[in-house]
This record gives sequence, C-alpha cells and structure tokens, in this order.
Amino acid sequence: MEIKQLYREIVNEHNLHPANKRDLEGATIVLEGVNPSCGDDIYLQLKVEDGVITDAAFNGSGCAISQASADIMIDLVLDRTLEEAMELAASFMGMIKGTASEEEIEELDEAAALQDIAHMPARVKCAVLGWRTMKQMIETLGSQAASENKAKLCPSGCRNTDCDRRV
Ligand SMILES: [Zn+2]
Repeated sequence: MEIKQLYREIVNEHNLHPANKRDLEGATIVLEGVNPSCGDDIYLQLKVEDGVITDAAFNGSGCAISQASADIMIDLVLDRTLEEAMELAASFMGMIKGTASEEEIEELDEAAALQDIAHMPARVKCAVLGWRTMKQMIETLGSQAASENKAKLCPSGCRNTDCDRRV
C-alpha cells in the first residue's frame, strides 16, 4: 500500500471511530480549544495523577483532521508523564514545521500520518488544535503546582520541598 494511502486510512479511521471521544469522569483539567478559521471546537479532558496522564478524552465538533488528530494524540499520551507528553507535542509541532528528526517522527507513531498537513497551510491549525490545547493545559498544571509549592515554606527558610516544617 502506498504510504499516503495508509496515512489517509489512519486519519479516516480515527475520524469515523474516535475511541477517545467521550466524557471523562473526574478529569483533573478540561480546556476548550478553538480554531475559528475552520470552526473546530474541542473540549480536551485530562486526568493527571502524580504527573502521569492516566486517562484522557475529548469532545466537541470539527473537521475530520481536527477530530482524528485529537483522537490519535490521546492514544499517544496515555500513561505518559507530563514531560513526555510535552516532548511529543514539540515533536508534532516540529513535524508540521518540517524540523523534526526521523526519530522524533517515529516516536509520533500514528500521528505521523498527519505529516503531509505541512503542505496544506489551511489545515495546519486543524491538525495542531488538540496538541496546542494539551500543551496549554500542561503549562497551566505546571504553574498551579509551582504556586502551591511557593505558598508552603519552612519558617527556617530551608528549600527542601519534603521538609515537615513547611506551612
Ligand atoms: Zn478543521
């Protein structure tokens, strides 16, 4: 099978049968991602435990590319740490810009099926919508954790985050 044909089938399959399109009970964070240029509107939901994405789902509506890309992304980031998910997001953005290495594209597994989008500028925003939304969510979680840590300080000024005297 020609590789482009295979790519098209992967995208079609995820668009027609998105396994991760559902409501997620007990999500840690939910964020709406919008791409006005196409009308894509998704709600990404992540459940994060101890820095690991233990469950994820999306809802909403949009074109085939945006839906398939979000569905594929969720398959890829499940059971990964937030750092790993951020690295995958960077690889995906790199692939679209044409700067990702072969290893990075290989890591993207089925998401590599979207690499031809780089040649369709009008569809790039559709393909990156899920990834961009996830990146924003992880950044929000990171800054929340940082401000919680800052709020708790040991009175003697030690910087040990495990210190029992932190209040
Ligand atoms: Zn779209």
